[in-house]
Amino acid sequence: MRLRNVTGSREMIADSRFVVHEPFELKGKWQEEFGNENPIHIEIGMGKGRFIMDLAASNPGVNYIGIEKYSTVLLRAVQKLEQNELFNLRLIRMDAEDICEAFDTAEVQRIYLNFSDPWPKDRHAKRRLPSRQFLERYGKILDKDGKIEFKTDNEALFDFSLGELEPAGWRLEAVTRDLHHDEKMLEGNIMTEYEERFSSMGNPIYKSIIVR
Ligand code: SAM
Repeated sequence: MRLRNVTGSREMIADSRFVVHEPFELKGKWQEEFGNENPIHIEIGMGKGRFIMDLAASNPGVNYIGIEKYSTVLLRAVQKLEQNELFNLRLIRMDAEDICEAFDTAEVQRIYLNFSDPWPKDRHAKRRLPSRQFLERYGKILDKDGKIEFKTDNEALFDFSLGELEPAGWRLEAVTRDLHHDEKMLEGNIMTEYEERFSSMGNPIYKSIIVR
């Protein structure tokens, strides 16, 4: 998702107090940044941020960090935060490839991946956020009991993600191929922008929770 023609988005983000501008300097110090010892949960590829903002509003005892690659997209989340400030949420503009520079070993308790870009060409497989290359990075920053929650409407990407688990040393804790008709897994579900759009078109939503 890339929004065009958002003039000066980088500059507007640079001025925002909700964005952490030097995330690598906070490696190992995120709880200090939040001023508490609450667990750290991150969303990678958060888009316009609806999911992580709703989560943060509902769970004041968790520290949330939203990560997005593009400033034009991140700006939408920043604008929403200006209207509705959340003390337990920070935003970072960063490519997830650099995630191990921003978080220390076992510093994170949960990772959310929602409607990640599918990168359909085989030669781009390692760019997919649930790929084994990314799972290896997540494994470094996640606590040993940490979990990854992945949602998508893309069946091919979901099947790919399941195939990556064993080679990367992960296993399924829970899975559904139709989240919105799975009473147990739907409990407490928070919709993302893409989830709202695709489920209203009748697409089933796939979800996995993985652990080591
Ligand atoms: N998660 C949101 C949702 O469900 O509504 C947005 C989904 S959108 C399809 C995927 C988002 O992931 C885009 O905003 C894209 O810029 C971001 N993204 C893709 N690759 C990324 C990466 N390597 N690092 C950080 N963000 C990334």
